Amino acid sequence: MNPFAFVRPADANAAIATQAESATAQQGASVRYLAGGTTLVDLMKLNVETPGRVVDINRLPLGEVESLPDGGLKIGATVRNSALAQHPIVRRNYPVLSQAILAGASPQLRNRATTAGNLLQRTRCVYFRDTVMPCNKREPGTGCAAIEGHNRNLAILGTSDECIANHPSDMCVAMAALEAVVHITGPKGNRAVPVGEFHLLPGKTPEKETVLEPGDLITHVTLPPPLAGGKQIYLKLRDRASYEFALASAAVIINVAGGKITRARIALGGIGAKPWRTKEIEASLEGAAATEQTFRQAAEVAVQGARPQSENGFKVELAKRCLIHALKVTTQTA
Ligand code: SF4
Repeated sequence: MNPFAFVRPADANAAIATQAESATAQQGASVRYLAGGTTLVDLMKLNVETPGRVVDINRLPLGEVESLPDGGLKIGATVRNSALAQHPIVRRNYPVLSQAILAGASPQLRNRATTAGNLLQRTRCVYFRDTVMPCNKREPGTGCAAIEGHNRNLAILGTSDECIANHPSDMCVAMAALEAVVHITGPKGNRAVPVGEFHLLPGKTPEKETVLEPGDLITHVTLPPPLAGGKQIYLKLRDRASYEFALASAAVIINVAGGKITRARIALGGIGAKPWRTKEIEASLEGAAATEQTFRQAAEVAVQGARPQSENGFKVELAKRCLIHALKVTTQTA
């Protein structure tokens, strides 16, 4: 592991100043905020991340879950994944989020990992984590070893000729369906970004994964008030029952009245270069009868434009079955 400076600022402004100061000093790309460290420290040990300075934000007052006056929820950046999944309001009003978090990683990791850190999880593409292999995401311009190599776990939607990595988070898929908003403070002030716009597709710059700029700090995430009468589920399909990333997953939030779907919020995981939510899937469901035929049509819409690689063609059918089953389960009990 490379030597690095360790800084523990007293407040958010000091944290941002430390980042921005380093950016000005041409070290911007090598400064990282540290929360749970479950991604960052791993990648530092592998020399994939080599920050010159690590800014520990664990003492900042960002660790609370609070109800909002409008009935929504505010989740601090350093709220641990396990605390969030077990929070009574999350379990009652946002079960899809609780289920998604509990489907990810292991209890030990969830006890350390944070809300903001989960938003910033990096891909599990094996070549990204192996510094002797070409990887445009880790080292722009070197190529993509996965396109001709092992790509079974990688994305089929939103990829580019430069990168076919998938986004590994379960939590982010649930947050996409819940229409969460990411709140950021930085050298240019505060801003709020819908989670669907927070992650970027790889395009020609796969190294740029989010809208964050140097110095930007995620302070919290907000969830809108829960939908009355809606049913929710997070269904995750994977090679083994625990401590494994999704091959395909579906977060479904749905309302049914009189046999018809009145509202649907759908996001898919394991198959996209980012947590995958498209309005077309929801449009194909809303107003339609809650029948298997409707679900099958929505599943076809969901995988439109898929670009399977040599080893992951099975994900097209798996993602469809995952969505259909999640829709069946939520509408049967609606
Ligand atoms: Fe790197 Fe992306 Fe290619 Fe994986 S898929 S080797 S992360 S460029």
